[in-house]
Amino acid sequence: MRVYAIPMRTRFRGITRREGVLVRGPAGWGEFSPFAEYGPAECARWLAAAREAAFEGWPAPVRDRIPVNVTVPAVEPERARQIVAASGCRTAKVKVAEPGQDELDDLARVEAVRDALGPSGRLRVDVNGAWDVDTAARMIRRLDRFDLEYVEQPCATLEEMARVRRLVDVPVAADESIRRAEDPLKVRAAEAADVAVLKVQPLGGVRAALRVAEACGLPVVVSSAVETSVGLAAGVALAAALPELRYACGLATLSLLHGDVVDDPLTPVGGALPVRRPRVDPAALARHEADAATAERWRTRTAEAQSLLGGAPVIGVVR
Ligand SMILES: [Mg+2]
Repeated sequence: MRVYAIPMRTRFRGITRREGVLVRGPAGWGEFSPFAEYGPAECARWLAAAREAAFEGWPAPVRDRIPVNVTVPAVEPERARQIVAASGCRTAKVKVAEPGQDELDDLARVEAVRDALGPSGRLRVDVNGAWDVDTAARMIRRLDRFDLEYVEQPCATLEEMARVRRLVDVPVAADESIRRAEDPLKVRAAEAADVAVLKVQPLGGVRAALRVAEACGLPVVVSSAVETSVGLAAGVALAAALPELRYACGLATLSLLHGDVVDDPLTPVGGALPVRRPRVDPAALARHEADAATAERWRTRTAEAQSLLGGAPVIGVVR
C-alpha cells in the first residue's frame, strides 16, 4: 500500500490537493481515495472498489474506446471556446450557476461552447444542484436554444428534480443525488431523472456499479471521482462493460491533477479514452509519495474502512 498526494490544477470540491491510497494485488493496482468528509461506513465501499481492482480484476469489456466529455468550468466565453477547441472532444459539459455570476454569464458561456462544438457536437450543462425549480425551468428553456443533451443535477433534492423534469423537455441527469448503491433506485422511484451518473468508488466497485446500473434501468454516464489513472481505469472498465453506452463519460479528469502515478496516463485521444489498464511507474509514485503525517492518516482511514468491510485485509498484503 502506498499513499499519494498530488496538487490540483483547479480547486475542486474546495480541495487543492488530491490524496489517496494505492494498493497492489495479484490483479493489479487499485485506488482508495474517498474525499475527506466521508466517514468509515462510506469509505468501506470505496475500499471495496480498490480491493476488487487489486485482487479480482474487472469483467470483460464489450467496447475498446470510451467517448468522454470535456468539462468547461465557469470561465469567460472566449476561454470556454478555447478549452473545447483544444480538447478534441465532441461532447462538452458546461458548468453553470456559479456563485457570483449571473444568468447572462451562463448563456454567453453555453453559446460560446455551442459555437466551438458546431451543430453536431453534444452539449450538457451541470448545475450542481444550485437552482430552485422555477429558476431551473426558466434557465433550461433559455439554454436549450443551444440544444442541450441533458441538464445535470439542476436542483438539490429528488422532489425538485422530479418537478423540473415534468416542466421541461430536456432530459435530467442525477449526479449528487447518487452517492450510494441504493440511491439510483430512489431516483428511479421518484421519477427524478432520465440519466444516472455513476462512479465506481462510491458504489463499491465495477461489478457493484454494473448491478446498480441494471437495477435502476436508466442510461448511465460513468464519471470519475477525480482519481489518478489507477482509479480512472476502474471507471473505464465500468464504461467498457456496460451493455449499452449512449452518452460520453466524465472520465477526462486527469488534467485536473498536477501529475499522475503511471507511465501511460489515461488522457483522451480524439475525444475518447482507450480501454486499457495503465502501468504504475515507481518513479512517478515516489515523486507523489505523501509525507509521513498524511500517510499515517490514510493508514488509519484504510484500517477503519477495512474493519467495516471484513474479508481479507488490504493493508500489509503487498508493500
Ligand atoms: Mg456533476
